[in-house]
Amino acid sequence: MADMKTIETLDAAGKSVIVRVDFNAPVQEGMVTDDTRIRAALPTIRHLVDAGAKVILMSHRGRPAGTGFEEELSLAPVARRLGELIDAPVVLAADITGEDARGRAAALGEGEVLVLENLRFDAREKKNDAAFAAELASLADAYVNDAFGTAHRAHASTAGIAALLPSYAGYLMENEVTTLTGMLESPKRPFVAILGGSKVSDKIKVIDALLDKVDTLIIGGGMCFTFLLAQGYEVGSSLKEEDWVERARAMMDKASSLGVELLLPVDVVVADAFSADANTEVVPVDAMPETMMGLDIGPQTARIYADAIAEAASVFWNGPMGVFEMKPFEAGTRAVAEAVAANDAADTIIGGGDSVAAVNQFDLADRMTFISTGGGASMELVQGEKLPGVEALR
Ligand code: ADP
Ligand code: MG
Repeated sequence: MADMKTIETLDAAGKSVIVRVDFNAPVQEGMVTDDTRIRAALPTIRHLVDAGAKVILMSHRGRPAGTGFEEELSLAPVARRLGELIDAPVVLAADITGEDARGRAAALGEGEVLVLENLRFDAREKKNDAAFAAELASLADAYVNDAFGTAHRAHASTAGIAALLPSYAGYLMENEVTTLTGMLESPKRPFVAILGGSKVSDKIKVIDALLDKVDTLIIGGGMCFTFLLAQGYEVGSSLKEEDWVERARAMMDKASSLGVELLLPVDVVVADAFSADANTEVVPVDAMPETMMGLDIGPQTARIYADAIAEAASVFWNGPMGVFEMKPFEAGTRAVAEAVAANDAADTIIGGGDSVAAVNQFDLADRMTFISTGGGASMELVQGEKLPGVEALR
């Protein structure tokens, strides 16, 4: 982004550089089970190591109580995995800004990497406490934020510290912000957005914001039923938010007054239970049985959506089309994922935790232009909100 200082402009040689990364990786039995987030930070870490910086990494992981060290939420497994990935020694401090961290930070050599313990072991992190930010800042000469996934939170390590040190955006941060804002500010047209997931109430701001930008808006997932209610259909025992029907109707009106094509399901897969071994049936949206729930878009809908996606020059996708975690209800999400992947000519951006999981499940991630690592952060950016972690770098 225009006015964010990037890591390229940091003369890192010999300097202590403290880097906020998103190492919130899943761990089982002391092993990292998915190292995507660690890999995502490697370009920045490698750059600093190669430049001869003394690199101090900090992150949160999980949801500690904030009352001190918790073995099962330690960053030890992450530090170990990082060491394997960069093939260099990585040291873990026993604390965050305590004696051990300070001693190790001071002893760090050029090109060496130190990981501080889980930031959220200290309750002051989430409070953006000034003293905690100052303790973190005192460890280094410069600050880099590469944790796009937490950029929507104003915490000591994402906001407070940036006021105390020369601050820079890491490669991941820069890439996320540039790609997402580029899509919003000057998308190639036609621009098609696909929104799904569970609830309208979660996504209403995204729908609203995207309607101002897109040529076509495709709606699937649990939230389509609130739209179907707004269209006057009965939706049986599907997920529905009666309080949001009015808002859904307002969104439909907004789409038509802006000339945005709004696509809603014409058929759905219904089931007699929220279960992988439920009895299922494909029905048109005007014939949903009272006792059944819609758990995926139907095949005719999937074809219509795939056709619209094939015409797109840019695509933004957030939220699965159905309960893709269960085999009988994955077809709609798979069809959309395949259509997005097949459109090689388009800029295709996937954002949101479960949407990314779906794309990975179908093994299509490397056929997308860009996969955002920040669920909440990317949604807030798309909604047009300012991210504290990004603003702090301006
Ligand atoms: P993302 O993380 O990509 O933003 P969400 O968190 O909004 O997506 O929604 C994902 C969840 O929505 C998935 O767990 C999926 O099972 C659920 N979902 C999708 N369609 C339905 C449906 N028809 N009924 C209930 N849940 C649904
Ligand atoms: Mg989710």
